[in-house]
Amino acid sequence: LGDLKTLELDSVTFVLFGATGDLAKRKIYPALYNLFLDEKMPHTFSIVGLGRRDWSDHTFQAHVEKSLQIFSRRSINDSYKMEEFLRVCHYSSLDVKDKKGYDKLLDVIQNQEKEMSIPENRLFYLSVSPEFIDVITSNIKESGLGSSKGWKRLIIEKPFGHDLKSAQVLNEKLSQAFEEKEIYRIDHYLGKPMVQNLEAIESANPVFQALWSNQYISNVQITASETVGVEQRASYYDQTGAIRDMVQNHLLQMLMMTAMHLPKQESVKDVRQEKVRVMESLRPLQKEDVVSNVVRGQYDHGEIYGEPVVGYKEEPEIRDSSTNDTFVSARVLIEDSFWSGVPFYIRTGKRMKEKTTRIVIEFKNPLNELYIDKSEGTSPNLLMIEVSPNSGYSLQINSKNPLNGNKLEPVAINFSSNQENVPEAYELLLYDALRGDPTFFAHWKEVELSWKWVQPILEAFEENNLPLHRYRAGSMGPEAANQLLEMDGFKWR
Ligand code: NAD
Repeated sequence: LGDLKTLELDSVTFVLFGATGDLAKRKIYPALYNLFLDEKMPHTFSIVGLGRRDWSDHTFQAHVEKSLQIFSRRSINDSYKMEEFLRVCHYSSLDVKDKKGYDKLLDVIQNQEKEMSIPENRLFYLSVSPEFIDVITSNIKESGLGSSKGWKRLIIEKPFGHDLKSAQVLNEKLSQAFEEKEIYRIDHYLGKPMVQNLEAIESANPVFQALWSNQYISNVQITASETVGVEQRASYYDQTGAIRDMVQNHLLQMLMMTAMHLPKQESVKDVRQEKVRVMESLRPLQKEDVVSNVVRGQYDHGEIYGEPVVGYKEEPEIRDSSTNDTFVSARVLIEDSFWSGVPFYIRTGKRMKEKTTRIVIEFKNPLNELYIDKSEGTSPNLLMIEVSPNSGYSLQINSKNPLNGNKLEPVAINFSSNQENVPEAYELLLYDALRGDPTFFAHWKEVELSWKWVQPILEAFEENNLPLHRYRAGSMGPEAANQLLEMDGFKWR
């Protein structure tokens, strides 16, 4: 994006709340280390890990090293680089609810800033339960940690609220300590290279630029399917469901990125305005519309890759009476001049047949009548964007096959990127946050509009206003999700 190319990597103190947690171990340390190896960390930086445990710097450094051994994308064989990285990792114990602890933390950080000549730039990363966001940010403010001579930024994880009201309350509290421009709400799907690539597909390819509207596109399908069940998160997931865990954030963010039209000026502000414009153009669902536009499902027992698995209600810690949604599919309509008449279908679920995140653009065929093989019809042109676990595209077009009586057959042109060298979402996002580029983070307005769109669905689910369809573990969801598209003359790709 034009206005961001010159952003600097200022020296910084990276203050990590939840440093002993799972996310830090699996994603944050590997991302920071890989950036460091790629020379994408500031020249001078320090990492201050915070947790309740009474660890020394040495114990913390051993913990970070262990996590890198297991989770780093790049080799950890360079012992000199490893030592250099670990040397700037420090630990301080802090109970986030203990106000006085923040005064001690301020001392620790100021001493290090002096010692390493780091200007008072502080990046706070809250990798803790969302219930602590409020107390941490107000303590940052009151202790003076947030009133530095340099800049301050705040990275927070999902979930951002439980419904519209709670998200608004949380944002109100947050905005007392940080300005919107200082807040980086992570949606790691926005860090996936192929999602970041969506704007380029349109802007850098006149072929698609010309076709990116309701004149040539018949429908868009966004799938995020998982093969895992509730794993270790049963009690959390049973209160959350697919609608909050996946739809409100990740699926709607991918929808915004797919449907947004390129701003005239490529700047953060314009990109975000375009995404907001998409959300403002979504046809709102009334509670009574939910039943005809949304499918709710829950998995039964079945098989995943040939292995038997139990149904949702047989999972440990799940209530027998649970009506929680482990699958959601919906028809989303965007009422603007580009997309009017083009349904966007979204679906997500657990215990499905394959683990994949994919965006499919299905094109119309206005000449179908001319070229049609009357008995079978032609296949539509499809642009399939593989977001994860593979990263690439495939374009399906029709071609005569001389080996089959010159019949028209779909053929695919494929591009797949080399997985090993693709940076992980957390690397791309942390690099952006370090440089002060919020383009691929969720702005409050986007989050609020997403909750607004989802709210009638939450209410309809709570009031049991629509059926809870069962689906077999290892399938692609309930039959009702297929019917949702069949009604409009389409099928899932
Ligand atoms: P976790 O339970 O493994 O870690 C939580 C951390 O919070 C630990 O370091 C713990 O010591 C710290 N903590 C808890 N109470 C504290 C207190 N009173 N004072 C100081 N520290 C305290 O959780 P996680 O998997 O690392 O995830 C962190 C957050 O990130 C989650 O709550 C969730 O909101 C979000 N998240 C995680 C994932 C993931 O894949 N793990 C995905 C999306 C979002």
